[in-house]
Amino acid sequence: MAAIRALVATRRDSGLEVDYRDLSDSDLGEGDVEVAVEYTTLNFKDGLAMTDAIPIVQKSPLILGIDMAGTITASDSNKFRVGDRVVLNGYGASETRNGGYTERLRTSSDLLVKLPQSISTREAMAIGTAGYTAMLSVLRLERLGISPDRGDVLVTGASGGVGTTAISLLAKLGYRVTASTGRMEEEAFLKSLGAKQVIHRDELSSPGDPMQSTRWAAAVDSCGSHTLANVLAQLDYNGVVTACGLAQGTDLAATVLPFALRNVSLLGVDSVNAPMPLREQAWSRLEADLDRSKLDSLSFDLPFDQLKKAGPEILAGKIRGRAIVSMRSQS
Ligand code: NDP
Repeated sequence: MAAIRALVATRRDSGLEVDYRDLSDSDLGEGDVEVAVEYTTLNFKDGLAMTDAIPIVQKSPLILGIDMAGTITASDSNKFRVGDRVVLNGYGASETRNGGYTERLRTSSDLLVKLPQSISTREAMAIGTAGYTAMLSVLRLERLGISPDRGDVLVTGASGGVGTTAISLLAKLGYRVTASTGRMEEEAFLKSLGAKQVIHRDELSSPGDPMQSTRWAAAVDSCGSHTLANVLAQLDYNGVVTACGLAQGTDLAATVLPFALRNVSLLGVDSVNAPMPLREQAWSRLEADLDRSKLDSLSFDLPFDQLKKAGPEILAGKIRGRAIVSMRSQS
C-alpha cells in the first residue's frame, strides 16, 4: 500500500520535532472509521502546536492538524457509510489524538460531523475551526437574546479566521457590525464582508478605565487581555461578550464593575470539547447563515509542503484569511 504523507510531531528530550513523514497503515492507530482527507487548514492553534509555544501536543508521535474534511472510505460505525463527507474540528485532534495533516485518518466516528449537503469539503476547511467557533459565538449571543435591534456588535481580531467569519455571519443575520483590526489597510475588505465601521485595535489594546462610555450591545472577542477588559468596560447595560481567544494575551485585568453595575455577561466559547449536538447545530447554521460566496475572498491555497513554515507565521499575525491545504495526492 502507498505511503501516507503526514506532518507528524515527535517529542524528544531536545523539544518537539515536527517533520513530514511517510506513514504506513499501522502508524494510523485505532478507530472505527477511515477517512480520505481531502482538505485541511491552518489555525492559530495549529501554529501554537507546531511551535510548541503552548504544549498543545500531549502524545508522541502524533499527526498534527486540528481540522480536516474528507470522505469516509471504511466504516465499522452505524453512524457513517463509505462515501459520507465528514468534518473534524478539535475534539483532541493534534492534542491527544491524530489530527488532519495526513492523507488518511483512522479515528473514532464519535468525533466526526456529517457535512451538511451543500457545504463542500473545501468550503468546510475555508470555514474550519475558526469559522465554526465564530458560529458557536453567535449562537451564544443569540441564546442570551442579543437580536440585531439591540445595537452595534463589535468583532475584535477582525481580519483573523474567527473575526472574518463572525463579521460575515453577523452581517448576514442583520446585525450592525464594527470591526476592530490592527490592519487598517484591510478596511475595504472588512467592509466587503459586512462591517459597517472599522476601528483600529489600538483603541482597545492598552489598559483602560474599568467603566467607560457604552458603545456595544455585544461583542465577539478573540483577543483576550486588555482588548477584552476594555470591551467589558464599554458594553451597554445587559451587554454580552463572547471570549474564545488569546491573540493579544491570556491575561484579563478587568474589574467586576461592568458586571455589578451594567449587568453585562462574559461568555466563554470552547470549540474543542463542544458536544456533538451543538457541533451539528453549528454546521447546520453555517450552511444556512454564512454567505459562502465570500469564502474565496477569505481564503487562499497553501501547499502542504509549506504548512510547517506557515505555523510560526500565523502566530506572528502574517497570515490573512484562511489557508486551504489540499491533501489530495501528496505522494
Ligand atoms: P488568526 O491568527 O486568524 O486571527 C487572530 C487575529 O487577532 C489577527 O488576525 C489579528 O487581527 C488579531 N491579533 C493578532 N495579534 C494581536 C494582538 N497582539 N493584539 C490584538 N489583536 C491581535 O486566529 P483565529 O481567528 O483562528 O483565532 C483567534 C484566537 O481564537 C486565537 O487565540 C485562537 O487560539 C482562538 N481560538 C479559540 C478557539 C476555542 O475553541 N476557544 C477556537 C478557535 C480559535 P487584526 O489583524 O485584524 O487586528
